[in-house]
Amino acid sequence: MTADHPPNKLGVHALVWTASWDEDELNRAFEHSRRIGYELIELPRFDPSMISVDKLRNLLDAHDLKCAITMGLAWDADISNPDAEIARRGEVMLENAVFAARDIGVELLGGILYSALGKYPKAPTAKGRQNAVDAIRRIADKAQAAEVPMVLEIVNRYETNLLNSTDQGLQFLADVGHDWPKLHLDTYHMNIEECDIGDALRRAGDKLGYFHIGENNRGPLGSGSIDFASAFTALRDIDYGGWITFESFSSEVLDEGLSNDIAIWRNMWTDNVALSDHAYRTMVAQIEASMVRAGQS
Ligand code: MN
Repeated sequence: MTADHPPNKLGVHALVWTASWDEDELNRAFEHSRRIGYELIELPRFDPSMISVDKLRNLLDAHDLKCAITMGLAWDADISNPDAEIARRGEVMLENAVFAARDIGVELLGGILYSALGKYPKAPTAKGRQNAVDAIRRIADKAQAAEVPMVLEIVNRYETNLLNSTDQGLQFLADVGHDWPKLHLDTYHMNIEECDIGDALRRAGDKLGYFHIGENNRGPLGSGSIDFASAFTALRDIDYGGWITFESFSSEVLDEGLSNDIAIWRNMWTDNVALSDHAYRTMVAQIEASMVRAGQS
């Protein structure tokens, strides 16, 4: 880094390494992440029946690694469902996630916290959206009390029907009317739904709480068509000082639930060490270049 205080710390998604909660597997994933330089690992769908909070905490501490927990709701536990019972089950799922996140001591709880993760067969209903707004407001109170930063990931139309664009996310936050939740944006999804990734980031401004870097094909950075320079320029424009996490998926590392939900059908890479090392160096170079452009280095 050219500056004394680089503006962002970098993370990596666990599915680059493993879909397992086995301690040895996590140990290997954490070790690789740290050796490359990443300071955070994102763990999808934390399940306390697979590894205890204490074991996970110890493993993270042993590697001096922070973590983020991300998740999506389920079809039968979905706060955006107009059915009160289904919405209530979604809220319980979120409450449990907030408490687990607090006990682990995460940097943030993110993902599709406002709906199920998957292709909805129709548009959201007004009642369903209102259920989600009301539930997120109540969960925001609990997350704030537990000091668990909370971010809502805006994802493409095939993974939710509720929040597909930054503007929809900003309107949703305004309707929730609570300062605690922020937006979680992702270049992979933005590439599908936004007119201009940089402009969308500038509109998000200080509401941006977490950022995912991923290629348009979810493969190695630079193998696709996303203009990362404009994204990193926009992050400097809005003075984003939060985490940036590299996300990439391949049939090399499959999670039976998540990989199917996000349609990982192809092998985009086989060497995850080379992939993650290259991504880290690419992101550092992009941050440095954006700082030079902004006159901050
Ligand atoms: Mn993402």
